[in-house]
Amino acid sequence: MAKSAKKYVYFFGSGKADGKAEMKNLLGGKGANLAEMTNLGIPVPAGFTITTEVCTLYYKNNRKYPKELTPQVDAAVSRVEKIMGKKFGDPVNPLLVSVRSGARSSMPGMMETVLNVGLTTRTIPGLIKKTNNPRFVYDAYRRLMMMYSDVVMEKAAGIEPHDGHGIRHKLETALEAVKKKKGYRSDTDLTVDDLKLLCDEFKLIIRQSLKKDFPDNHKDQLWGGISAVFQSWMGKRAVSYRRIEKIPEEWGTAVNVQSMVFGNTGDNSATGVAFTRNPATGENVFFGEWLPNAQGEDVVAGIRTPNPVNNAGKTDDTRHLHSLEEVMPRLYKELFGIQKRLERHYTDMQDIEFTIEDGRLWMLQTRVGKRNGQASIRMAVEMARQKLISKETAILRVKPDQLDELLHPSVSPDAEKKATELAKGLPAGPGGAVGRIVLTADDAEAWAKKGEKVILVRNETSPEDVHGMHAAEAILTAKGGMTSHAALVARGWGKCCIVGCSALDIRIQSREVHVGGRVLKEGDWITLNGTKGRVYEGKLTLLPADPEHNPWYKELMKFADLFRTLKVRTNADTPEDSATARIFGAEGIGLCRTEHMFFGPDRIKAVREMILSDSVEGRKKALAKLLPFQKGDFIGIFREMAGLPVTIRLLDPPLHEFLPHTDKDLQELSKDMSVPFDTLNAKNQSLHEFNPMLGHRGCRLGVTYPEIYEMQARAIIEAACELARQKIKVIPEIMIPLVGHVNELDAMKKVVVATAQQVMKESKVKVAYTVGTMIELPRAAMTADEIAGLADFFSFGTNDLTQTVYGLSRDDAGRFLPYYIEHGILKEDPFITIDQSGVGSFMKMAVEKGRKVKKNLKLGICGEHGGEPKSVEFCHNIGLDYVSCSPFRVPIARFAAAQAALKIKSKRK
Ligand code: PEP
Ligand code: MG
Repeated sequence: MAKSAKKYVYFFGSGKADGKAEMKNLLGGKGANLAEMTNLGIPVPAGFTITTEVCTLYYKNNRKYPKELTPQVDAAVSRVEKIMGKKFGDPVNPLLVSVRSGARSSMPGMMETVLNVGLTTRTIPGLIKKTNNPRFVYDAYRRLMMMYSDVVMEKAAGIEPHDGHGIRHKLETALEAVKKKKGYRSDTDLTVDDLKLLCDEFKLIIRQSLKKDFPDNHKDQLWGGISAVFQSWMGKRAVSYRRIEKIPEEWGTAVNVQSMVFGNTGDNSATGVAFTRNPATGENVFFGEWLPNAQGEDVVAGIRTPNPVNNAGKTDDTRHLHSLEEVMPRLYKELFGIQKRLERHYTDMQDIEFTIEDGRLWMLQTRVGKRNGQASIRMAVEMARQKLISKETAILRVKPDQLDELLHPSVSPDAEKKATELAKGLPAGPGGAVGRIVLTADDAEAWAKKGEKVILVRNETSPEDVHGMHAAEAILTAKGGMTSHAALVARGWGKCCIVGCSALDIRIQSREVHVGGRVLKEGDWITLNGTKGRVYEGKLTLLPADPEHNPWYKELMKFADLFRTLKVRTNADTPEDSATARIFGAEGIGLCRTEHMFFGPDRIKAVREMILSDSVEGRKKALAKLLPFQKGDFIGIFREMAGLPVTIRLLDPPLHEFLPHTDKDLQELSKDMSVPFDTLNAKNQSLHEFNPMLGHRGCRLGVTYPEIYEMQARAIIEAACELARQKIKVIPEIMIPLVGHVNELDAMKKVVVATAQQVMKESKVKVAYTVGTMIELPRAAMTADEIAGLADFFSFGTNDLTQTVYGLSRDDAGRFLPYYIEHGILKEDPFITIDQSGVGSFMKMAVEKGRKVKKNLKLGICGEHGGEPKSVEFCHNIGLDYVSCSPFRVPIARFAAAQAALKIKSKRK
């Protein structure tokens, strides 16, 4: 290779590699880690990685490779040949290779693998002579044909057969037919002669179906495999997975070509997949699965249910199976040592693949293992305790969404005791789920779109099913182990999942599932306990999650509180919600929506009376009836939040929201209130607005009916005075909604202050309180300096701010925003994640203008974004004092706030 030639191929083997772990972008995760393991002196079969850059160039140049690629691949193959002492395509001592994809971040099963490349009619006799094992050779040959015809000749060629008409299915059917005819139970029962005949049959089926011969030249096979990997990057499955996981298309995939080692040469051989810690629970025990006399894909594909790798990993259901620790103790010890070393080296849980060929251990892969939320939290905390990582790293390792999983529901134990257990399987994804049975991924997606809760029930899943798996509440498979596709994908998403549930007999044709003598139909309800691996008939009660009894969660939250500077409050308007939020760590109430209190059955009548009266006096009379209720509400909330600030927002929604809308309901109300129907109807009509979101609501109500805000201010201050008298510390913050002009705030503040003074005079108690405003209109943000002059605090109402900055109705946008997201017009729903460049700019402007006038202006957010991790980070970065969110999101917000603080710190370094 000329010195100046661009390097597209990176070699690894015999203790030395061109690449290293840090080169993931260029070599993909798999390639970079194979290089790293080689450099660590861990036994890795020699091979080479074709860079992700080639993938990008391939697509840029109309699916053509750079001209330097072929000579570089040839040179690398020669190096592999030298190390392995075999020759590619050689009739006497042939080298076989695997061809696998490997993107920057793992995309389990998304892309392609072809094993045993190099087996041809020329090389078969040599390999038989060398291994003295014709059965193994023909088994390898039929596997090559199955994978190659499927991956290279069908998928990469863009052929998309209907379900059940693909070449792989046809070949599998032929294989099953032989087994059935001969009365075999397992693939390993097939004899040499069976396999020879089967290989001939495979060739015929391939020719008939694909109108092409299976290639009998080793180089054609190799380049076919390489092309198929690159093609698969743009395959339907990979594209849809990338969209879900937000992986950019430009990343491309690398191709790893590696010398084959065989786990299926006999009883001295094996293959397995393992994790340095349990990926489902996080427990610090080496955990894995293995199969004797099998090739690697057998474990992952879930075709055979594998054995536990060690005795510690046995469960009641797998106690009878032999572990590797029992069967091959010396090799298990070596594997155990390697996994320990890898975890220490990478300082994270590793997901490893190994093969034992005739008593020799080879490592085929290591990568950071996917884990569910519960496991992620436990591992992070335990690794920090072990001093393997710092507390900061522990926090940055857990995704805020993973905390959410801990907050997931579980099946009620009481309900479970009484339920009919249908079957047992492996607990691949914890938590409980209830849903209706669907049998195909497409149906799962379609039903979910209609609002149905579904559970996808399959024999096994494949990457073609990801869209349906994503849409389903949970996944249930009849086959496969804890490392099967279904288990890996569900774990990555933190979804409830049970695999290897062998009692299920799934009959796609009749849309039925037969299990233990029962027949369930598509659409029937089932419940899964993914933590225990149990399937039940019907809809069982789900209990909300209970993170407070999880010691690792509690410790992680303590770590988070060490680093975060942003305070976290809650949006709550009942004493119960306030109590829940306090348990979750809320440091105050950021938004108490008083209108929610107006709907209470004990007071709605008084509210309606107030709305219906035409005079100030009439309204005041009705408001006087409401006062004790409001006061009682505030006392309850203040008590729960003793010593913490409570922001109470005065009435916001338009008054017609409190009146019934149908004639029937109006008639009932007319009887109930002894007000003629026509009067009620006329009032209803008069309150009608064409655009109520921009109408007579928020402080506009207070400006026109000051007696409403006066009553509310009185209730707040009377409650505060009463508790102050009982020596309970209360910190009321009175908030005026929907202010657009400073004069609105001026008028309302005057009402509040005059009322407060009056109440304190009457009760002869003094309480400290503040008056602030929401910033939820663009005009308020633009004139924040004027407003700050009168406000003690600002709280960003990003629901309304998004609505008004974007001109998007918050009640109607749901009809078309999903289309925008699906088609890439918008990356995210602005009502979920703050639109930083638009809405965020207004927020930044308000922060700057407000603080210019009042250095100590307290700033918070109480829109829905206050509990969304990316938005929390934004709020931290623009200098807010707190975020406020619903009680169940408080832990996520606390955590996201810590991550935000740490991210900024590491950026500054
Ligand atoms: C907001 O607009 O963001 C807000 C918190 O108020 P509401 O959702 O009650 O309008
Ligand atoms: Mg609002």
